[in-house]
Formats: sequence, structure tokens, C-alpha cells
Amino acid sequence: MMRKLIIAGNWKLNKTSREAIEFVTLLKRELCDISGVDIIVCPPATALSDVQDVLTDSNIALGAQNVYWEDEGAFTGEVSAPLLKDIGVQYVIIGHSERRQYFGETDETVNKRLAAALKHGLTPIVCVGENLTEREKGRTFEVLEKQCRGGLDGLEADEVEKIIIAYEPVWAIGTGKTATAQQAQEAHKFIRDLLAEMYNDDTAQTVRIQYGGSVKPENSAQLMSQPDIDGALVGGASLKAETFTEIIKNSCTAAQ
Ligand code: PEP
Repeated sequence: MMRKLIIAGNWKLNKTSREAIEFVTLLKRELCDISGVDIIVCPPATALSDVQDVLTDSNIALGAQNVYWEDEGAFTGEVSAPLLKDIGVQYVIIGHSERRQYFGETDETVNKRLAAALKHGLTPIVCVGENLTEREKGRTFEVLEKQCRGGLDGLEADEVEKIIIAYEPVWAIGTGKTATAQQAQEAHKFIRDLLAEMYNDDTAQTVRIQYGGSVKPENSAQLMSQPDIDGALVGGASLKAETFTEIIKNSCTAAQ
């Protein structure tokens, strides 16, 4: 099965609206000739609307970094799926390890956000991944299984086919340490086999699984050439047009 390559940039807490507009204007020009890959940028919430204005009629789609599970009401400080849809957001990152680490995100809250995103037609990018201690203790697969089963709880196969999973080993995020292509492939294969067990083979073969964790132009080709790696979730290197563009171009070549 040919799964379409999908590369997303997670800007985290970076770039004012003005900086974001300037950046995506440049990115749009750099990437206008590229096809055969889904390209997504995930700016901070304050820049989403302005970035969407620049991205209209381009080959770059817009993603948010989080979503709340209720649609509206007395939930000060939160942003819901209908509000994101309203300004043209198509994707949303859910359960990023920074949210799990610093903001109390659990598999249960991931599950609620996921259901809300799907209900409103947003494509969730669900992040899973072990930390260093868990890896060193040989518990990587156990952690991935718990996060996948908990996060996807109650979803039907046809819903799961719409989501993107990002395997992001916590020890490789923002650290400059990348999982080897072999380590990443092994984890992706484990997740895909688990999906086959939880749902069925077709669903497992349909779901796209991105790798995240210090992806750079220098390592992207090797990672993307692995059979179960279908794209990348890029943090630091997505903040510069040159490195993000290079990652996309290298990945396209490698994935062919
Ligand atoms: C991320 O934010 O999802 C990420 C993988 O960050 P970095 O590429 O900086 O490690």
C-alpha cells in the first residue's frame, strides 16, 4: 500500500503573527513546485488565522498544536474544534510529549481531544513515545501499547483510518539525538502491528505514522526510506524555511 508522505512543522511557542506571515510567504514560494506530499505548518494559536490567509490556494495546510474537547462554554483559555475549523485549520497535534510533561496531558485527555477533533472533521496527529528511562528499562513497546490503546479507546476502524500517529521518542525531542532509522522503524512496525491487532490489516496499512525527534536535513532521507515511516513531525528544524524545505525535498526523494 502506498501511503502519501506527510511532513508537519510544529513551531511550538515561536513566532509572532508578523514573523509567521513573513515565514510562510517565503515557504509558500520555496515549496510551490512540490507535489506528492502533504505539508503542514502548526503555528501558535495567535498566528493561525493570519497564516491561513497566506496559505489559501497553496499546497501547505494549516494545523493547530492542541484542541479542547468541549465545543463551547465556560472553559476559560481553551480553544475548541469548531473554532479551529472556522478559521481554516485542517490538522491538530494531540498529546505532544511537552503537553504530557508540562500540562498534565494523559491518554484519557488525548482520547477526549481525539474524539472531538474527529467529530468536527479535523485530522488529528496523535503523538506517542517513550522517555529515556522507559527505553533503557526495555519498556518502549509496553509504553507505546498503553498510549495507543488509551488514546484510541472507543474509536471505530473507519475513524482510526483518518488519524495520523506521530512516534516521538521523548529522549530525541529537541535534544539533537535522533533515533536511528532502525530504532524508529522497529517502533513504527510495532505500532502498525498493534493497529492490525486492535482493528484489522487494512486499517493498519492505511494509517500514516510520522517519526519525530530531531529530524534534520541530514537524517531525513534515511528515516523516510524505512517501510513503516510515512513522514515526519519536525520541531526545531521547521522554524527555518531552508531546513524545513530541505527536509521535505530529501524526504520526497527517499520515499519514492
Ligand atoms: C516536536 O516538536 O515534535 C519535535 C520532534 O521537535 P524536534 O524536531 O525539535 O526534536
